[in-house]
Amino acid sequence: MHYNLNNNPVIVVGGAGYIGAHVCKTIAKHGGRPIVFDNFSAGHKHAIKWGPHVEVDLRDRKATQKAFETHSDVKTVIHLASSIEVGIGEKYPSEFYDNNVSGALNLLMAMKYTGADRLIFSSTCATYGETQNMPLLETEVQNPFSVYGKTKLAIEHMIQSYHKAYGMKYVTFRYFNASGADASGEIGEEHDPETHLIPNALKAAAGLGPKMKLFGADYDTPDGTCIRDYIHVTDIALAHIDAIRTLDEGATTHAEVNIGTGEGYSVLEILTMIQKVTGLPVPYDISPRREGDLTQLYADATNAKKVLGFSPQHSDLENIIKTAWNFHRKQWE
Ligand code: UDP
Repeated sequence: MHYNLNNNPVIVVGGAGYIGAHVCKTIAKHGGRPIVFDNFSAGHKHAIKWGPHVEVDLRDRKATQKAFETHSDVKTVIHLASSIEVGIGEKYPSEFYDNNVSGALNLLMAMKYTGADRLIFSSTCATYGETQNMPLLETEVQNPFSVYGKTKLAIEHMIQSYHKAYGMKYVTFRYFNASGADASGEIGEEHDPETHLIPNALKAAAGLGPKMKLFGADYDTPDGTCIRDYIHVTDIALAHIDAIRTLDEGATTHAEVNIGTGEGYSVLEILTMIQKVTGLPVPYDISPRREGDLTQLYADATNAKKVLGFSPQHSDLENIIKTAWNFHRKQWE
């Protein structure tokens, strides 16, 4: 369904990042006006192509308030900015709590101040923690293992409190593994350093740099490697349009929703698909388990369909790898 955003403005915090750029493009495609707020600590100016931007760091409360004041007509905010590297969070928790939790509090305060009363927040399946209950339902106990997951859960709670106290409307997305790239190849995953499986495996397949490290082949899974639910970033972006539509229609005022496909793939299955798509084997070494990794995570995706009418259209694994390969090949040429 092609929902028209009627030229309405949407503030996209973290709009210069991997998911943010895809969200902005999708908002523009649906007739909306994305306004990027970013501190460019990880985002890229070249990924902002669909509207204006404001350079602002959420940790600066006054600057955040000022940025909102200059866009006081905006009602809808998408919040994607955060520290995401799990290992760094374990080493430097204060940095994570400051950037993610304090930053989100400043954002909420600024939103309340200007009357922006709708928030779409990107949380994570890492808020659930270790459990055998697969697929994961939204009602699963949230007991995050990593500092990263703990900061995201703290923000979920803050948003719930703002809903209860001030009537803030929200959709909290618990993403599974964002992957793939826009079909045009103009935007894609550009983390530095890159820690994610698919870009690292593609790089190794392309013969750029060392062999890939496969973190643990002794997990309790059919082939011994971890299982994840890979969802195409274009589908994630489209889920945001469904969230805006659902809030516009008043169908719900608050929801926590998994954004995944419902299917799990092991690390070795990903490497096999990469060989099929690229024709190149992925050279790898089996390395020790990575700290913070859970054995398996995949979504029960039925709630997203029920609450938002969202179901993934671009997330078959072959398409994910094809679009990622298409993007990275251009980058590496
Ligand atoms: N992984 C790996 N080598 C890498 C990067 C990731 O073996 O260079 C594994 C990782 O241990 C996990 C899976 O691939 O089991 C997905 O990791 P990723 O960092 O892409 O996403 P996460 O699930 O941590 O959010």
